[in-house]
Amino acid sequence: MKITLTDVVKKYGEFTAINSVNLDLNSGQMLGLVGPNGSGKTTLLKLILGILKPTIGNIQVDGQVLDPIKWKEYKGGVGYMPERVSFYDNLTGIETLKFFGQIKGGSIDNIKDVLDRLFTKEILDKKVGSYSKGMRQRLNFAQAIINDPNVLILDEPTSGLDPIGIKEFYEIISGILERKRPIIILSSHILAEIEDRVTTVGIMKDGQLQALGTLNELYKKSELPLKLYIISKSENNGIMDMLISEGVKIVMSTKNEAGAVTQTLQGVNERILHCEFHRDNKMKILSCLMERKIDIIDFIVREPSLEEVFFGLN
Ligand code: ATP
Repeated sequence: MKITLTDVVKKYGEFTAINSVNLDLNSGQMLGLVGPNGSGKTTLLKLILGILKPTIGNIQVDGQVLDPIKWKEYKGGVGYMPERVSFYDNLTGIETLKFFGQIKGGSIDNIKDVLDRLFTKEILDKKVGSYSKGMRQRLNFAQAIINDPNVLILDEPTSGLDPIGIKEFYEIISGILERKRPIIILSSHILAEIEDRVTTVGIMKDGQLQALGTLNELYKKSELPLKLYIISKSENNGIMDMLISEGVKIVMSTKNEAGAVTQTLQGVNERILHCEFHRDNKMKILSCLMERKIDIIDFIVREPSLEEVFFGLN
């Protein structure tokens, strides 16, 4: 399956919530949408869901702009986990899921394994009105996947989940991705949480997709330096001079005392050099370090975090 958004604009009255967004989504892709409050993430998700229609531009599914009948068919294969959901508090968890199964054309048999991971039987038999925030969020997720969707849209899916719940959620998602290869789009404010889990990241700002790509592509686009930590044996080994002559910026130089950059190496006389360099110089710098390998105990190269990229691009 392929979904293509071309020059999509969504206006609420005079206000432009989505401004000229172009986006290609393919089966097996997991897009993480990040951006500040009000940047248009939910609106974009609702456009892809077919709940909202573009004011300008179009959305194609497998190369076709859908007519109302085809939209209906498409929506039958979509799973949506909204940011906020209302359940009937008097129904039990299992009754709620049966109800969603009936209206969405799915069955709790489709998600039996997932239910076993997310709930105990006792909880599923309790009334939803007694559920904690995290339990409601688990139920919200379960209803989103009850129809074994081809397109799964998750609006801040882990808000309210505890760390075990978050881990379980991503394990379930990666199982679904492997088995069914749907298109998955999720929005989140927690950059560190999604950075190793999504295939593509879209950064939204003022209704526009300010940056879109794999994490590697975004790292490159942000032009942020790579960080290099060199652990060496002695103070005066000339490594610093050598790096400076290669144009490396030395940020900090310290002995490996408490609070130093790495906890993995504990030697008292180790010296840690913290440097930053442009990624184009990576191979040149690494080959310089290899020449000095007698003095060097270890080195660590770190990419910037998604959070640094996010702020670097904003
Ligand atoms: P958050 O991170 O806070 O959930 P978001 O990135 O999901 O925000 P949206 O909910 O898509 O942002 O809202 C984008 C902009 O559109 C906001 O300025 C919002 O106030 C506006 N907006 C959203 N829905 C409507 C609506 N129904 N009518 C008018 N304006 C709206």
